[in-house]
Amino acid sequence: MTQFAQRHIGLSETDIQAMLDELGYDSLDALTKTVVPASIADDTPLSLKAPLSEEQALAELRELAKQNKLVKSLIGQGYYNTHTPKVIQRNVLENPAWYTAYTPYQPEISQGRLEVLFYFQTMVTELTGMDIANASLLDEATAAGEALTLAHRALRGKRNRCLVSKHCHPQTLALLRTRATPLGIELVLIDESQPLSDWEDVFGVIVQYPDTYGTVQQLTSLCDTAHEQGALVIMASDLLALTLLKSPGELGADIVVGNSQRFGVPLGFGGPHAGFFAVRDKYKRSMPGRLVGQSIDVHGNPAYRLALQTREQHIRREKATSNICTAQALLAIMATLYACYHGPTALRQRATYVNQLANTFRDGCKKSGITVNEQVFDTVTLSGIDAEALTKKILAQGFNVNPRDAKTVSVAFDETCGLDDVNAVLTALGSTDASALSAPIEVNAQRSENYMTQAVFHDYHSETEMMRYLRRLSDKDIALDRAMIPLGSCTMKLNAASEMTPVTWPEFSEIHPFAPQDQTIGFRTMIAQLEEMLCACTGYDAMSLQPNAGSQGEYAGLLAIKAYHESNGDVQRNICLIPSSAHGTNPASAQMANMHVVVVKCDDRGNVDLMDLKAKIEQYPDEIAAIMITYPSTHGVFEEEVTQVCEAVHEAGGQVYIDGANLNALVGVAQPGKFGGDVSHLNLHKTFCIPHGGGGPGVGPVGVRAHLAPFLPRDQHNGERTGALISGAPFGSASILPISWMYIRMMGADGLRKATQCAILSANYVAHKLRSNYPILYTGNQNLVAHECIIDTRPMKDHGVSVDDIAKRLIDYGFHAPTMSFPVPGTLMIEPTESESRAELDRFCRAMHGIYAEYLAIKNGDAEHSNSVLSNAPHTMNFVLQDELDLPYSRRQACHPDVEVDYSVKYWPPVGRIDNVYGDKNLVCSCPSMSEYE
Ligand SMILES: *Cc1c(COP(=O)(O)O)cnc(C)c1O
Repeated sequence: MTQFAQRHIGLSETDIQAMLDELGYDSLDALTKTVVPASIADDTPLSLKAPLSEEQALAELRELAKQNKLVKSLIGQGYYNTHTPKVIQRNVLENPAWYTAYTPYQPEISQGRLEVLFYFQTMVTELTGMDIANASLLDEATAAGEALTLAHRALRGKRNRCLVSKHCHPQTLALLRTRATPLGIELVLIDESQPLSDWEDVFGVIVQYPDTYGTVQQLTSLCDTAHEQGALVIMASDLLALTLLKSPGELGADIVVGNSQRFGVPLGFGGPHAGFFAVRDKYKRSMPGRLVGQSIDVHGNPAYRLALQTREQHIRREKATSNICTAQALLAIMATLYACYHGPTALRQRATYVNQLANTFRDGCKKSGITVNEQVFDTVTLSGIDAEALTKKILAQGFNVNPRDAKTVSVAFDETCGLDDVNAVLTALGSTDASALSAPIEVNAQRSENYMTQAVFHDYHSETEMMRYLRRLSDKDIALDRAMIPLGSCTMKLNAASEMTPVTWPEFSEIHPFAPQDQTIGFRTMIAQLEEMLCACTGYDAMSLQPNAGSQGEYAGLLAIKAYHESNGDVQRNICLIPSSAHGTNPASAQMANMHVVVVKCDDRGNVDLMDLKAKIEQYPDEIAAIMITYPSTHGVFEEEVTQVCEAVHEAGGQVYIDGANLNALVGVAQPGKFGGDVSHLNLHKTFCIPHGGGGPGVGPVGVRAHLAPFLPRDQHNGERTGALISGAPFGSASILPISWMYIRMMGADGLRKATQCAILSANYVAHKLRSNYPILYTGNQNLVAHECIIDTRPMKDHGVSVDDIAKRLIDYGFHAPTMSFPVPGTLMIEPTESESRAELDRFCRAMHGIYAEYLAIKNGDAEHSNSVLSNAPHTMNFVLQDELDLPYSRRQACHPDVEVDYSVKYWPPVGRIDNVYGDKNLVCSCPSMSEYE
């Protein structure tokens, strides 16, 4: 084992031995043998290269990085160079207080990131001219896909055609096709500059503004006509352009989507970047993704929290509006802070400058007699030229441009460009240098209304103020840099510094996703190696890294299954069996693939009910497309019958989808691709160390057995793959893939197996320690659990103590709560992971027992629930410092309950318990604009 592996695993050898002793096992292998069913157990070492030390792995990756060529890209098409302000790079992107945070489901310990996400919504709302925006989507293309289905639903599916401008970004067009096909929506390509006559059955119109060739179109009359015809208008747009141009809201759009990348988020070969999604008020209830709202806490102070629809998938399942779970929180935060740091005036100046550069270039081209588009923002498209020859000439001057077809080339400028860049490209064209900037776009295309007048966009223009603001915000939150985050199903393990380091290397961060292939050899080699490593870890034959979240991997996997059945002529196979315990994204993804969800029951022990499964198979003899199971189950148990489940479905002609979110219990001990799975998605942001970023980014690779490989999403280095495009960029969130590459490269086969074994050991240790007060809801062989356990807190409700009370009280003890009420309402699911030390596990168990004692006091009548440490939790500093504090317990009990812990550095929640109902009744999702104060 490498020293890295020893450090990644939080348990020392002594800890391991002591914990095994308590559980009554001799060795990790003995424990593993008892926990993991013999029918699936596989202890042959993973076929990975011998592991490297941190320094060696960084050196090896450096060599790969060097094979990427850094050429300035003027490619555009939705991705632009940008200057990430260093104060944001250092204090956010490279700061574990920000990147290791979890999705803000526990709002009291997430006020810092929720505040910024709230401002993201404000910024997007203001720039797009819409009423409400969500807190980011996965990318622009998938956001357009979500808009398509929202518009379809808005007219209750009564109309079936959508007009799509052929001037949309090509990747957006491809994604729209992916989403439309399974649902039977007809996409009709249009040229929006021509009058449109056929509105029969049309529910929506999608345009890109400015369009992919750079033209700023006149869209008002198109919007008017669409509305007269009862159709919705969807605009894909660009935030920088919108600081200068008329807003889509003013033009008449109903839904606006786009990418916030160019607000300070590195190109990174295509991602991760935060997509945005904004709508008119009317459609707010059907928006996909997360929405941050403002509510109040028990003390009446304003507080942020995720609005109700956030948990929509778990409530509405296959009727959910979307399968989006992990989105791009960290990148949305960066884009917002970029806007705060610059403010609206500087942003508009920047946009104007970029526009003037483009106009200067356009005028230079015209002088040389080249045909160009006239009314542009930042992209100029040259037509009637030899695209290949021209692209080569410009490359010789040091720039990538965008050949669109044999006779057309686009050149896009951005905030990192200057007049010298314009002149260098003009020289390549044989044109003369421009000495002065051309005028910006005509005034009547510019917006006149003010925007982003709120204080937050004006108060932090000095670096000192920004630095302190960032510190204040992150101090409000609990991330992994403070305490363990024992989230069941989400695997909050160490995100090691050496894994994070390569993310900001320019060779990885400054590459355009559509850069010429000979400039991205290092990237594509690294990606191919990671695919191979992940295949070795899972037993699958092929892996696609394109999906940028688990939900997208699910969708890609189901589409592959669908395409496979269709290729066999089995078009009638349309039923997706899903156990009742499944994660909400499963049924939501099945619905997007237009599969019919049939729920399979679970038995009393929480396992898939084999009788019910067989009954369902008999009921639909030739229609089973797939079963989606999670393994180990979402109940945290290695189900003994999993091979029988797989066999039964295979016999019925169906495919087996194994949700790989729980892979942290499997790597090195069993392989889903070997014990019955045909396809799985993995969550690299769970098992393979990509940090959660406060709700994203993530990567959700989809792995398949050989027969499904041709149906994986197509990309640039696997020509034989024919599946639908799943993300806008060919390799999704490419710039964070080095994190997982580093992890596997440093752990090696032994390290990975030991990590899994320690994750299982820690979960069983916690279960064992807590069992006396908290019943473990589901267990497998010998009363053991897998890598997580569900504790039953429902009996405590008889004396008023709710699962919320426990979760909020844990905050006073300095912890983030475990997963609450999933998969079983009223319970907590604890996953400690291998990265926590025994001391931290013990501290957590002490907190849980402390809480139990507090419950007992209520049960025994020594305390009143309605005014107890539990019901009043979490305790803010403001509250306990009141001079006249009239409480039946002491200040120390309130905020320093575990005397063994050194509270000289205590976590203080910034707000008291938040009122969710109030927040949903009074939905406030962005700052009021100044005009609303007048
Ligand atoms: C996390 C999770 C998902 C969804 O993954 P995202 O990356 O959040 O989209 C799906 N299934 C299970 C069981 C999960 O825990």
